[in-house]
Amino acid sequence: MKPTRREFMRTTGAGALGATLLPAAIRGQAPGVSSGKVYDVAVVGAGVFGAWIAYRLRQTGRRVALLDAYGPGNARSSSGGQTRVIRMGYGDQEIYTRWSMRSMELWKSLIGQAGRAFFQPTGVLWMARGEDPLTTKTVATLKRLGVRHERLERSELERRWPQIDFGPNTWAIHEPQSGILMAFHSVQAVVHIAMEKGVEYLQEAVVPPEGKGRLSAIATPSGKTVQAGTFVFACGPWLPKLFPDLLGERIFPTRQEVFYFGPPPGDERFRPPAMPVWVDFAEEIYGIPDVRGRGFKVAPDRHGPAFDPDTGSRVVTPETLATVREFVSRRFPGLKDAPLVAGEVCQYENTSNGDFLIDRHPERENVWLVGGGSGHGFKHGPAVGEYVASRIVEGGKVETRFSLATKEKFQKRAVY
Ligand SMILES: Cc1cc2nc3c(=O)[nH]c(=O)nc-3n(C[C@H](O)[C@H](O)[C@H](O)COP(=O)(O)OP(=O)(O)OC[C@H]3O[C@@H](n4cnc5c(N)ncnc54)[C@H](O)[C@@H]3O)c2cc1C
Repeated sequence: MKPTRREFMRTTGAGALGATLLPAAIRGQAPGVSSGKVYDVAVVGAGVFGAWIAYRLRQTGRRVALLDAYGPGNARSSSGGQTRVIRMGYGDQEIYTRWSMRSMELWKSLIGQAGRAFFQPTGVLWMARGEDPLTTKTVATLKRLGVRHERLERSELERRWPQIDFGPNTWAIHEPQSGILMAFHSVQAVVHIAMEKGVEYLQEAVVPPEGKGRLSAIATPSGKTVQAGTFVFACGPWLPKLFPDLLGERIFPTRQEVFYFGPPPGDERFRPPAMPVWVDFAEEIYGIPDVRGRGFKVAPDRHGPAFDPDTGSRVVTPETLATVREFVSRRFPGLKDAPLVAGEVCQYENTSNGDFLIDRHPERENVWLVGGGSGHGFKHGPAVGEYVASRIVEGGKVETRFSLATKEKFQKRAVY
């Protein structure tokens, strides 16, 4: 008997929008395009931010068009990786802890609707040295907000995770309920569910809008137009290309390399439940255990060089590989000789300090700019969607740290 869509998604490795299952849906031609239909909102960009914004706006009853140049969660997008960490710890930046908590609820409710697990609670382990201020402040915030966590001293760390050589790290925070989101699969699932609820999706690039004042329509290079009352540009690292005068010097896309190492066959020490997500903050490096057989992921968090998301080379460099391998041999001796099984090059779309950009265009009152995920935005997709929808629909409460006015033209990272 033919499986239902829900059964298919639960039992196969294909995403909610697996190419074999739903090719028509992903390429869906929004029927209102070029037809004279005026949408309430057109969302440009179906990364994690745009997908959740479109979905939340539709939940409020708005007629929504969603457009993407390359497809939801595509390989060039910042949301296009295999996995992303969801953790609650953010030093004393309480808003991000609150948004992570809220997003976790919404991710879980999405999983309920999609019938498929995009989240794996592997736990997240933050390694720290001495009086490390960020980690110390994180403990205080987690305690204040009632997030489940443990402060573990060195002897306990060694007892629980003998496969890790903690080196100079003396203690750690363990968030047992945090973990991993399957990144591009979950973006595709959000888009698919949004489409089921009535969002109209069109796979086309939008040309940079010209002029000033209210925007009435956006256009594609093929000559299609989309009319709407409000426009949201959630274009991540492409925002500087769409709004060069405004954002050319305020969003800094950087090249980030990611490596996957293959543990020895039958070695369970580097997979969940034996291995959590880990962060070695002092060395600016983090990793994700081997889930779904993709390999043990290790990635430097330090900002790389400037990067073009359309044309930049997606091949990892031998120099970064050598640095990462040296770290892996020290911190995870059992993986000293593990082969590299895959590499990814993605980009962060950094703001000056790491705070998101969520604001109206200063000269176009019905145009919203949303982005600046800055290497930590994925987990917050649901909360960003909720915030943007409430600002558009109800004129919801303004969080000034997301405003354009706070975005400087230099980089000084403050949010991790
Ligand atoms: C290596 C790496 C690791 C990361 N790890 C984590 C992590 O562990 N946890 C975490 O929370 N975050 C993490 N992040 C950050 C997070 O992935 C990003 O902040 C988030 O995905 C940004 O989403 P976005 O929707 O703003 O942008 P994107 O995902 O880039 O989406 C933008 C979309 O806009 C579309 N677009 C662009 N221009 C146009 C146009 N002209 N017309 C139509 N469509 C257009 C693109 O095709 C794209 O799909 C990581 C990022 C990277 C690169």
